[in-house]
Amino acid sequence: MDEQIHATREIRINPIVPSESVLVATARSMRPQKEEAPAPRDTRRHVETCPFCRGNEDKTPPEIDRFPQQGDWDIRIVENLYPVLGDDRQIPGLVFGLQQAIDGYGRHEVIIDNAGHGIAVHEMSSPHLANLFRVYQRRMQQLYAMDDRLKYVLVFKNFGPAAGASMSHTHSQIIATPVVPQNVHDEVINSRNYFKKHHHCIFCAMIDEALTFETTIYDRHSGRIVRQISVGQYVVEKGEHFIAIKPFASRYEWEVHILPLEHNSNFMLSKDDEFADLANVLQRTMARLDAVIGGAQYNYFLHTEPHGEDYVGTDASYHWHLEICPRTSIPSGFELGSGLFVNTVSPETAAEQLRAVKL
Ligand SMILES: [Zn+2]
Ligand SMILES: [Zn+2]
Ligand SMILES: [Zn+2]
Repeated sequence: MDEQIHATREIRINPIVPSESVLVATARSMRPQKEEAPAPRDTRRHVETCPFCRGNEDKTPPEIDRFPQQGDWDIRIVENLYPVLGDDRQIPGLVFGLQQAIDGYGRHEVIIDNAGHGIAVHEMSSPHLANLFRVYQRRMQQLYAMDDRLKYVLVFKNFGPAAGASMSHTHSQIIATPVVPQNVHDEVINSRNYFKKHHHCIFCAMIDEALTFETTIYDRHSGRIVRQISVGQYVVEKGEHFIAIKPFASRYEWEVHILPLEHNSNFMLSKDDEFADLANVLQRTMARLDAVIGGAQYNYFLHTEPHGEDYVGTDASYHWHLEICPRTSIPSGFELGSGLFVNTVSPETAAEQLRAVKL
């Protein structure tokens, strides 16, 4: 790795949501790194007292669905014991996700990802992960069909206490709401505006760029090479149908996004046979992250086309994706005060390290 890369200090504009800019400042840490070692991971496969473990099915809130339907379950969906939303309950002014106020109804459910208590995503088999995505998809379809007031079904996972997970048993969550999270709204609207101007999807353009872009940037005065961007520099993993890339303007040091290679605005339109490849790409990406930042706490979020008349005609311009955001640093006062994210590892370096992991 050369010196210049270490000295990166520049503001990068998120091409999709320009208001979400990032200061990439690798020379000195403007953002406190987590001092403590990663929270010790609970690696136990079965815990007698855990309500999410097999055999304790009567200790969870009511079951909504399970997979497989017969025999031992591998994945279960249950009601959330402490929902942030309830059916037709008025919770005025509730702050959700990125500062979106919800007053009204919605659903909050828990998906018990795996019967293995402390199993990490990279330790789950690809066929299991493919089934998990099938379960996400089926539940989204059911929720939208149940209530046409719902505009967004957010599927996400919190892993580790810093990422907001309150249960150590591996799980994901679903929040179905009549409002669209602000960041998803911005992505959808901005990518539609981009499409109107350029007649192609900005996400597809980013993927093409990640795969093919090559350029050299010289210092104006000395003529020294400041940065070389080469083919595939932002690619972390690539499968037959999916790609994992390190965004050029990553908010988090180890943030990685997974997108379908073929244009598709809506996760619900993904075909069953594509999930095997998605599972593989996710599994390998998580294994790379684990090898580089071992045991990190993270969130992942599924961003897909919302429902509702505001979003009609966004199928050509939006492109669904999974955002994986490991929490390896604590937001600084500067970040909280300015709204500008600070990233202390250049995305190029991070992608290189992730790619270098031998799996
Ligand atoms: Zn458990
Ligand atoms: Zn696209
Ligand atoms: Zn997104």
